[in-house]
Amino acid sequence: MNIVNFINRFPDESSCIEFIKNQRLQQGVICKRCSFIKHYWLENKKSFQCSACSFRTSIKSGTVMENSNLPIRIGTLAITFISVTKKGFSAAELQRQLGLKRYETVFRMYHKIRVVMGKRDNIYRLEDMVEYDEAFVGKAINNRTKGKLKRGRGSQKRSKVAVMAESTVLEDPDSGKLNKICRYFKMKKIKNLEAKTAQLLFKEFIDENTVLQTDKSTTFSDLSDCIDVHVREISGTNEGNFNLKWVHIAISNLKKHLQTYHMISERMMQNYLDEFCYKLNRRYFGQKLFDRLIIASIYPYWHDCG
Ligand SMILES: [Zn+2]
Repeated sequence: MNIVNFINRFPDESSCIEFIKNQRLQQGVICKRCSFIKHYWLENKKSFQCSACSFRTSIKSGTVMENSNLPIRIGTLAITFISVTKKGFSAAELQRQLGLKRYETVFRMYHKIRVVMGKRDNIYRLEDMVEYDEAFVGKAINNRTKGKLKRGRGSQKRSKVAVMAESTVLEDPDSGKLNKICRYFKMKKIKNLEAKTAQLLFKEFIDENTVLQTDKSTTFSDLSDCIDVHVREISGTNEGNFNLKWVHIAISNLKKHLQTYHMISERMMQNYLDEFCYKLNRRYFGQKLFDRLIIASIYPYWHDCG
């Protein structure tokens, strides 16, 4: 999907409503009151009506457009913009591109889109071989917090982010040279660099049969509780650089990506990481990214595994 395709595919509001309606029916509309799944479409109300209890679900209800006055076409255009830009938009830039007056409306919707991106990626666990490292990224500090910072500790001005990369070693049949390809990434904001924090992440996001690769930090000295095999490498050596290749590339790209925005607060950091990771994990989707993002964006918000 690009902007020209968008104009051809969705020339007006009713073509957008028809599209979103059909997408929602395909996913299955579930009645909020009685959980029944059979619904009728009420054209004049732009709503689905439960055929068991007559409860109505509006076309926007539960989607990222819920509680906004935005026309469906503008919401769909926002999703198009977000899906076509690799670098990501600031909410202010998106507001300008959509020609909207209120910043908050755009900000709230963009926030929800990032939340659904995070939820989608949280469904999957990494497996086989996983590289793990931690990074510091710049964050916004408000004036009240500024006064409380201890001198000489630059790390207080940065958020800590755990980065995981699922990678596979491949051997070139001719030269015998080893290379590594990477599939999926996960990035999670963490409170501290303690072993316990890393262990909780591994339990939640990495399959227990994974070969985990980290640097030689003492944080990782005992992970037998949550992971089977664990290879520790000294970063800076050839072997260390090879084993942590993708996680280091991802960290450097993440830092560049975050420069697109003005400083991001600690509270919002995960939201931005979720967008970055969602697109990174779907980097080969091309035009299909729009369809995937639409499906995620209209999946009822109150379902956890949307
Ligand atoms: Zn019902």
